[in-house]
Amino acid sequence: MPQLGFGVWQVPDADAERTVGLALEAGYRSIDTASVYGNEAGTGKGIAGSGLPREELFVTTKLWNGPSETWQRDNVLREFDASLEKLGLDYVDLYLIHWPRPMRDDYLAIWRAFEEIAESGRAKAVGVSNFRPADLRRLRAESPLVPAVNQVELHPLFPQTELRAVHAELGIATEAWSPLGQGKELLTRPAVETVAAKHGRSAAQVVLRWHVQQGVIAIPKSVTPSRIAENLDVFGFELDGEDIAALDTLGAGPDARRIGPDPAVFDV
Ligand code: NAD
Repeated sequence: MPQLGFGVWQVPDADAERTVGLALEAGYRSIDTASVYGNEAGTGKGIAGSGLPREELFVTTKLWNGPSETWQRDNVLREFDASLEKLGLDYVDLYLIHWPRPMRDDYLAIWRAFEEIAESGRAKAVGVSNFRPADLRRLRAESPLVPAVNQVELHPLFPQTELRAVHAELGIATEAWSPLGQGKELLTRPAVETVAAKHGRSAAQVVLRWHVQQGVIAIPKSVTPSRIAENLDVFGFELDGEDIAALDTLGAGPDARRIGPDPAVFDV
């Protein structure tokens, strides 16, 4: 899986073909969409229009385990078929459970269906998103299939230190959503600006480099061509220990702050 990918949340379906096309042209090879983003069809058109061989691309989508009360095998398989159809693909590289919704207590049943999907080869790998340490341990205890990835909110203001240690222990790759903190206050924090000035790079590049150097997979989103290119251009410089320490102070201890919902209470 490429360590840097392109996220398409909030890209309208009508724009997704063009935006995904721009990202693939700029050099991205990994695209992160989801059923609930409503842009799998446009994303699929962008992929098809790129003319790139399928095996050079890494496509992720996610199960929106929302509309029914409690999810069963059949709901999952039907949703997965619908996603493949919209994308115009006969397999995805990664299929994720979008949210654990622990209050519904059905992610184990969903994961059984994910085991089947993985077995069929129609998803080359399966994983989860927004799972907490207890959810991951429960899956580990109940299933022989370890999630390949847990995609979670992660950036210097919310570094997920405890969760990353659990991932390392269980052999799960960490993928960061909102890796730029959604382009909000994180990018204007003095610590970020100072490190950016030191390297002659943008704030976004410094934050993405922080992810890369820690072995985290990041999927920044932009619809602006110059930023799409800028966000991928983070392999030609290196942060030193002092830079990393300065960025680490932003989310240390009680300063850690989420932007998005808390998986413990979020029910799609
Ligand atoms: P992000 O951290 O990638 O920030 C994107 C925003 O930052 C852009 O809209 C723009 O305003 C700004 N930006 C982008 N590049 C910039 C640059 N170079 N300079 C300055 N500003 C810049 O936030 P995101 O879109 O929330 O997250 C990225 C992807 O993560 C999504 O597109 C989606 O694929 C995924 N995601 C997944 C979940 C989940 O529950 N699994 C939740 C949210 C997002």
